[in-house]
Amino acid sequence: MADKFVYFFGEGKAEGTGTMKEILGGKGAGLAEMTNAGVPVPPGFTITTEVCKYYYENGGKLSPEIEQEIAEALARLEKVQGKWLGDAEDPLLISVRSGAKFSMPGMMDSILNLGMNDRSVVGIARRTANRRFAFDAYRRFIQMFGNVVLGIEKEVFEHALSALKESRKVPYDTDLTAEDWENLVGSFKGLVRKEVGTDFPQDPKIQLALARNAVFKSWMNPRAITYRRLNDIPEDLGTAVTVQAMVFGNLGETSGTGVGFTRSPATGKKELYGEFLMNAQGEDVVSGVRTPRPIADLKIVLPAVYQQLVEITQNLENHYRDVQDFEFTIQNGKLFMLQTRNGKRTGHAAVKIACDMVGEGLITKEEALLRVEPQTLDQLLHPIFDPKQREKFKVVAKGLPASPGAAAGQVVFTADEAVAWVSKGKRVLLVRMETAPDDIHGMNVAQGVLTATGGMTSHAAVVGRQMGKPAVVGCIALKFDSKEKLFTVNEKDIKEGDFVSIDGATGEVMLADVPTAPSEVLQIIAGTLEPKASEIYQNFAKLLSWAEETKKLGVRANADIPKDAKMAFAFGAQGIGLCRTEHMFFAEDRLPIVQKMILADNPKDREKALKKLLPLQREDFYGLFKEMKGYPVTIRTLDPPLHEFLPKREELLVEIAKLEAKGTKGKRAGGKRKLAKLQKLLSRVEELHEFNPMLGLRGCRLGITYPEITRMQAQAIFEAASKLAKQGGKVRPEVMIPLVGHVKELVLQKAIVDEVAEETMAKSGVKVDYSVGTMIEVPRGAITADEIAKEARFFSFGTNDLTQMTFAFSRDDAGKFIHVYVAQGILEKDPFQTLDRAGVGTLVRMGVEKGRKTRPDLKVGICGEHGGDPASIEFCHQVGLDYVSCSPYRVPIARLAAAQAVLKEKKEHRKVGD
Ligand code: ADP
Ligand code: MG
Ligand code: MG
Repeated sequence: MADKFVYFFGEGKAEGTGTMKEILGGKGAGLAEMTNAGVPVPPGFTITTEVCKYYYENGGKLSPEIEQEIAEALARLEKVQGKWLGDAEDPLLISVRSGAKFSMPGMMDSILNLGMNDRSVVGIARRTANRRFAFDAYRRFIQMFGNVVLGIEKEVFEHALSALKESRKVPYDTDLTAEDWENLVGSFKGLVRKEVGTDFPQDPKIQLALARNAVFKSWMNPRAITYRRLNDIPEDLGTAVTVQAMVFGNLGETSGTGVGFTRSPATGKKELYGEFLMNAQGEDVVSGVRTPRPIADLKIVLPAVYQQLVEITQNLENHYRDVQDFEFTIQNGKLFMLQTRNGKRTGHAAVKIACDMVGEGLITKEEALLRVEPQTLDQLLHPIFDPKQREKFKVVAKGLPASPGAAAGQVVFTADEAVAWVSKGKRVLLVRMETAPDDIHGMNVAQGVLTATGGMTSHAAVVGRQMGKPAVVGCIALKFDSKEKLFTVNEKDIKEGDFVSIDGATGEVMLADVPTAPSEVLQIIAGTLEPKASEIYQNFAKLLSWAEETKKLGVRANADIPKDAKMAFAFGAQGIGLCRTEHMFFAEDRLPIVQKMILADNPKDREKALKKLLPLQREDFYGLFKEMKGYPVTIRTLDPPLHEFLPKREELLVEIAKLEAKGTKGKRAGGKRKLAKLQKLLSRVEELHEFNPMLGLRGCRLGITYPEITRMQAQAIFEAASKLAKQGGKVRPEVMIPLVGHVKELVLQKAIVDEVAEETMAKSGVKVDYSVGTMIEVPRGAITADEIAKEARFFSFGTNDLTQMTFAFSRDDAGKFIHVYVAQGILEKDPFQTLDRAGVGTLVRMGVEKGRKTRPDLKVGICGEHGGDPASIEFCHQVGLDYVSCSPYRVPIARLAAAQAVLKEKKEHRKVGD
């Protein structure tokens, strides 16, 4: 236990410093730092977070030593101010403020005007020669104290205040007189007695003890708990309590209060940004009762104060070398700073500020790289809702923010309808219970996707992110009516064609056509806008170029079609880490051929269908190779269970029943033939039916059962590669065999690939530099990686499947319980989103170590969803992977995260070195 619990600040000197956030909280540390820097700050003292912990560990009691230290600090404050708490002549008034290590804006409670009682109010009235002010301050204190400390509903007091205004027939607080406030104080005291059964405490020492305890308690209020969970703030930090002499912004026309930022937190623009109110107390600015004025107006109202504020905040920014979010109060023309902290900002602002500050020589490039949260780069890529317009629309429901961006459109319920509506020139939002691979065409044309079920790695979420399509998933407030084209939110019906907007960054759903704007960066990536036309893009590109100099991990993209590959390349991808060949099979013109291939009951018929697929796949691969300009392209052989390509059993049964019912009447030959065909299809569908397809005939098991499929794909790959090579293009195909758990599986598949490669190269007369490797996504594959590496030139960790199989969590069903696991603390995070280091991570580490023992130059990457998750990327860097691969839109995020992984590691080393 520490031996000092209270840190004083005042008269230009503080016992604490800005680096003591851990024990003084951000607010306390900031006040200490400002005091030491000579900034005008009302004096006070901070009770440490240690005391908060003590409070919780000892059933809400403090030790006599701590009480003693607080009493001494209070006495010192009284002496410094020359005023005493509760004094009838010239009383001291104080605020009691919360503040944790990490800022949790508005989550905990603060109390102002403490020390007001029936005696001191008279002193205040006399000293300020303002009776009205004194009683207004008293009633504010009862109101705040009543709510925060005594737990009385805010409405109780607000109701009394409105009743008073009504009886006096005036609309505003400012119309009330001293007598009115005095009467209201009387009513408020009565309300306290009625609500809690005791009188409002008059003894300021008791007021202070109760307020301090209430602040400690506010650490555990539900709001604060939720905020910590969402922001990964540890539970055991506790809050500090700062007790500070009050200054008043509501003493008249030369007093006021305001908040601001040294640069715009929305855009990053370098200008003083903020709002103020004259003749007002702190909370008035944010409460919305009066509309505050833009900070620039202060220049007109009080020019000297404005100038001083500009200087102080500029100095603070220089001192902290980051944007400051500050609070101030002006008392009778004198400026006081009440708070300063690093300002939270949007992705746009973060990038601009980081680049500008490097340009100004304020921070280094390395610091700039650490200033931008990689995830927030997403905000630069997706259309957004105009923040000003948005406030006009009500949020009616919230789901999981699966894929960021703003989308507004008319509701459609199926993928086909989406396509039909869009072909008529409409903007649509695809709303479904959940999505499946055969919804891709609908998702492709929709503005965004909204689903009622599923988690952050559900189909809609993954594909949404891959496509860069806004998606809100698992929105349980949606209730579907299975018969009607209808869903309901909070009992309100939404029909096909109604406008709905979703914000994929927040999960919010609005029943309106909220206007959106396209992102400049994306326009430039797509080639429709000149880079020099966008400052946002230039900063984005600058930051990523610094990341490039720093990072060690390669960053590749998961892309299946040339269009995506092109975009990935423009985002800086250095290759394709995963091309899922099956995605090409779902295309409308190909599905019938694929079905023929699957339905074939002899190799000859299968060969026939495969021959038709060959040129199509060849074209796909050719396009990919071309877009990647010589960077490696990893192509995975067919992976999913075959039944995914076939119609559903239930649908076939219905169709057959219908046809049979008709057949008894007409007996037409055409009908008969169709019936026979359907029955054959049904029996094949039933043959292929699996109880657990994820653990069934898929991955390399398919290629082993039907080697001709692998052969066709290999042929397409090498023909495409040879063609491009002949034209002088550079190609580096990497053929990846999925779902290998036993080295012999790889041996067999590799033999086919090598054979086809030899044949094709012999035929075309060009040599293509290729390699064959495998995905490590079955636990046995990781465990026997030393064996597998004898055959594989590279590994790519398929961490979606590896997570699924390590946990035995079905990826498609886990959405139902993972949030329960997270809520109960069994899991810290959804392991499908952020790699589970202890379990899955151990398998990855083992795979890398064993693999490289056999083959030191084994190339190792990751191509699961985790390849785009910053925390997982840090792990990938730590275990020495060569590259990560993620969806094209995540490439910038991964590049920045990879650079941060290096910088964080350096920091750690430095710490250890100290
Ligand atoms: P939060 O952490 O919610 O921002 P604060 O402790 O900053 O809470 O208090 C809220 C507001 O109360 C401040 O912005 C400021 O306007 C006002 N306030 C707090 N302490 C004082 C003080 N000593 N004198 C004047 N106003 C104060
Ligand atoms: Mg504050
Ligand atoms: Mg897999």
